[in-house]
Amino acid sequence: MKNQARVVVVGGGVVGVATLYQLAKMGWRDVVLLERNELTSGSTWHAAGLLPLFNMSYSVGQIHKHSVALYQSLEEETGQAVGFSQVSNIRLAMNRDRMDEYHQYAGVARTIGIEVKFLTPQDVLDIWPLCNIEGLVGALQHPGDGYIQPADVTQAMAIGARNLGAEINRQVTAEGFTQKPNGEWQVRTDKGDITCEHVVSATGNYARRTGAMVGLDIPVIPVEHQYIVTEPHPEIVKRHRDGLPELGVLRESDGSWYLREEGGGLLLGPYEKGAPICYPDGPADGAEYELFPEDLDRLAPQIEAAINRVPAFGEVGVKQVYNGAIAYTPDGSPIVGPAWGLRNFWLNEGHSFGVTAAGGAGWQLAHWIIEGEPTIDMLGVDPRRFGAYANAGYLKAKNEEAYANVFTIHYPDEERPAGRPLRLSPCYDRMQDLGAVFGQKAGWERPNWFAPTGTPQTDDWSFRRSAWFEHVGNECRNVAENVGLLDMTAFAKCRVSGPGAEAFLDGLIANRLPKSIGRINLCHALNGKGGVHSEFTIMREASSSFYLVSAGLYQRLDHDWLWRHMPDDGSVQMVNLTNAKGVLVVAGPKSRTLLQRVSTANFENNAHPWLSAREITIAQAQLMAMRVNYVGELGWELHHDIEYQNHIFDALMAAGEDLVLKPFGIRAMDSLRYEKSYRMMGTEISIEYAAYESGLDRFVHPDKGDFKGREALLAWRERGFANSFATLEVHGAGDADALGNNPIYHDGELVGRATGGNYGFRLGKSLALAMVHPEMAAVGTELTMDILGTGYKVTVIEESPYDPMNERPRA
Ligand SMILES: Cc1cc2nc3c(=O)[nH]c(=O)nc-3n(C[C@H](O)[C@H](O)[C@H](O)COP(=O)(O)OP(=O)(O)OC[C@H]3O[C@@H](n4cnc5c(N)ncnc54)[C@H](O)[C@@H]3O)c2cc1C
Repeated sequence: MKNQARVVVVGGGVVGVATLYQLAKMGWRDVVLLERNELTSGSTWHAAGLLPLFNMSYSVGQIHKHSVALYQSLEEETGQAVGFSQVSNIRLAMNRDRMDEYHQYAGVARTIGIEVKFLTPQDVLDIWPLCNIEGLVGALQHPGDGYIQPADVTQAMAIGARNLGAEINRQVTAEGFTQKPNGEWQVRTDKGDITCEHVVSATGNYARRTGAMVGLDIPVIPVEHQYIVTEPHPEIVKRHRDGLPELGVLRESDGSWYLREEGGGLLLGPYEKGAPICYPDGPADGAEYELFPEDLDRLAPQIEAAINRVPAFGEVGVKQVYNGAIAYTPDGSPIVGPAWGLRNFWLNEGHSFGVTAAGGAGWQLAHWIIEGEPTIDMLGVDPRRFGAYANAGYLKAKNEEAYANVFTIHYPDEERPAGRPLRLSPCYDRMQDLGAVFGQKAGWERPNWFAPTGTPQTDDWSFRRSAWFEHVGNECRNVAENVGLLDMTAFAKCRVSGPGAEAFLDGLIANRLPKSIGRINLCHALNGKGGVHSEFTIMREASSSFYLVSAGLYQRLDHDWLWRHMPDDGSVQMVNLTNAKGVLVVAGPKSRTLLQRVSTANFENNAHPWLSAREITIAQAQLMAMRVNYVGELGWELHHDIEYQNHIFDALMAAGEDLVLKPFGIRAMDSLRYEKSYRMMGTEISIEYAAYESGLDRFVHPDKGDFKGREALLAWRERGFANSFATLEVHGAGDADALGNNPIYHDGELVGRATGGNYGFRLGKSLALAMVHPEMAAVGTELTMDILGTGYKVTVIEESPYDPMNERPRA
C-alpha cells in the first residue's frame, strides 16, 4: 500500500469506487481507495440494482442521467459485463394528482434531456400483460431505464480505475484523520499511514462513524429496507421460452412498491410506513454483509396492493426476503460535496439510490476536487444544505419519514410533519393565534399563509391553485394597499469584521461594498467559474464591520463559503448571528405611518432612504431597521435581538389595527417577488448560470478591481452566453401556474425552461421567470411553455412588471 497519494477514498462500495474511477478518468491517477472488507461488502452487495431515472430534483436528475450513460459504456472499456438490463420502467398513476406529478417531472426530464413517454392503461397492458389495469388513469414510461448488477458495475469501475493507475486496497480500515499544518491529511489505517491532499468519505452506513473521527455530525442514518424475491412463475418462464422480451420494471407509486422480473419469478420492492432506522451511530465492526430478520407483516399493505395489480405475484411462493440497511438523509437526497468547516475533506454519503447515483455523484465530486467547482448546480445534494439542527434525534424522525415518502406524491407545496415544530421564533404562538399555517425551512417554522377565521388552519397541497390561493391573494392585496407583517427570523445572518474585513469581502463579491455606514447593497459571491455561489444583503455597520443576511436554507453553505475564503492571519472575524437575531418585516404603503406610531425615529426619505439602515427604538426595544424588502413595496426589515421579538411584535400589532396591519406568509412573499422579477438563489441564480445570464448586471462591477470569479466571468462573456433571464406572462393559465422546470419551446424546439412561476395578484396575471436562449429573450417574443402537460402561450415582458420604475419601495 502506498503511503502517499493525492486522494484517499475511504469505502469500497459502488459510490467510493465510482469516485475513484472518475478521479482517475479526469487525470488524477495517484489516487488510493481503502476498503475495510471486500469491495461491495456494504450496502452495495444486496441492492436490487434498479436504476430509476425519475427524480423531481434538477441536480439529482442530472446525476442519475450521467450514471446510466456511463454504465452503458463500461463493458466495452473494461471487459467486465455489468448486467445492464435496459427493460424500461413504467410508473402507474391512479389519480389526477399523480398524473400532475408525472407531468411536472416530465418537465424536469425534458429540460435535462431524459426521454419520457406517457402511456394509456391499454398501452400498459400491451407492454405488461400480467398487469391488471383497473383503476389506472395512465402511466409514465422511461424507455432508457432498467436494472444492473450492482457488484458487477462496481467491479467494472474498479477495473477501469486500476487500468488508469488507481490503487485499491481491500482489508484496510481507516481509523483516523489528522490534518497537518501544511493542509495535508494523514490517514491512519490498521496497515499504516497514508498522507494525501484530499480525503473522500464514501462509507455508506458507516458515515456517522467516519464523520465522528473528524468532528462532523453527518446527517445520515440508515433505514431498514426489504425486498422479496419469489419462486419462478410459469407464465414468466413460458414468456422466456417463447422468446418474448423481459417485462420491464413496474412501479405503482400509489401502492408504494416496484416490481421486476428476477430468475423467472418476481422481485417486489416496497417502501412501507414504519420502517425503523438502524445503526444510529454506525454499524458495529464485523457488520458487513449483515441482513436483518424479515418483517413481512409491515409490508402487508404493499403486498396486497401488488397482488391486486399483478395477481401473478400472489400465485408463487416467496423464495427469499432481503432486509438490509439503506442510508438515508432527512430529505432523501445524498450528501455530495465538501464537508463544512474542513478543508479538502469531501463527503459522498447518504445514498439511498446509490447504485443509480454513484457514477454521476463521482463525476461531479471529481470536478469539484480537481477544478474546485462542480459543473452542475449541486445545491440539492450539497452537504451544507443542513445545519446543526440535523442531529441524531432529528435524523431519526426525518429519515424514517423520508423513507416512508419515497412514493408519495411530491407536491410543490408539500410540508412534512416529522420532527416539528423544532426551531421557533418567539412570535410563533402569536402567529399561530392569527391563523398561521406553518411550513418548515432549515428546521425553522415559518408561516406559509394565514387561514382567516372560520377557515380550517390546515394546508391543501396541489400542483394547481388550491384552497389557500384566494387567502394568499388577500394577503398580497393587503400588502399592496395597507401594511403586512412577515416573520423572516429564519434568515441566515452573520457579522464579518476586523481590519481586513473590507478587503476580504471586496475580493469575494462582484458588487461594490456599501461605502458609508448604514448603507446596504445586494451582493453576489461568484464561484471560480463566474456562476453565482451565494447572495448576500450586506450592510456596513461600522468602518470595518459588516452585517450579512442571506437565505435561511443556505446558512451553513454561505457561512462556510465565507470561512473558506477568509485570510488566516486573524485580520477578519466572522460571527454567526442566525439564532441571536430575529427579523420582522413590515411592508406596504402604510408601513411608514405604522413605524412612526411606535418609534420616535424619522422614517422619511431624507432621514432613512431606500437601501439604508438605522438604529431605532420600537417601544423599549432597540433594533436595526433596514429599508429593504423582497416584495416591492415601501417597507423595512426589523433586525432585533431575539429576546425583544414579542415586545416589538405586540407594539406593532397594537398600533396597526386601524391601518389594517395583517400578517402575511411566505407564499404571499413568493407571489409578490415574481411581479418584481426578483431572482432567488437556487432557481434563477446558480453556479450553472453566469451572473450576467441571470441578469445581475447592475450588481456586477468588473471595473472595481479584482474579485473571485471576475476573470472567469469575463471570459465566459467572451465565449458567449447560452442563456438569458426573462420574465414571462402566461396566457390563459387556467387553474395552474408554472412551478419551475417547465420546458419552453419556440416552433417546437426547446429554447429554455421556467425556473419558477406564480400568480401575481397585484397585476392579475400568471407569471414565470425563465432562462431562455438569448435570441428568445427580447420583450414581445412569443413562446410556448408546458404546464402540467398543456402548452400555454407565453410572452416575454419587461422586467419588474409591477412598478417598473421602483417608485413604491422608494416612496
Ligand atoms: C435491500 C436494498 C435494496 C436496494 N436497492 C437499490 C436499487 O435497486 N437501486 C439503487 O440505486 N440502490 C439500491 N439500494 C441502495 C444501495 O445499495 C446503496 O445506496 C449503495 O449501495 C450505497 O453505496 P455506498 O458505496 O455508498 O455504500 P456501501 O456499499 O455500504 O459501501 C461503503 C463501504 O465503506 C466501507 N467502509 C466503511 N467504513 C470504512 C473505513 N473506516 N475504512 C475502510 N472502509 C470502510 C464499508 O465496508 C463498505 O464496503 C438498495 C439498498 C438496500 C439495502
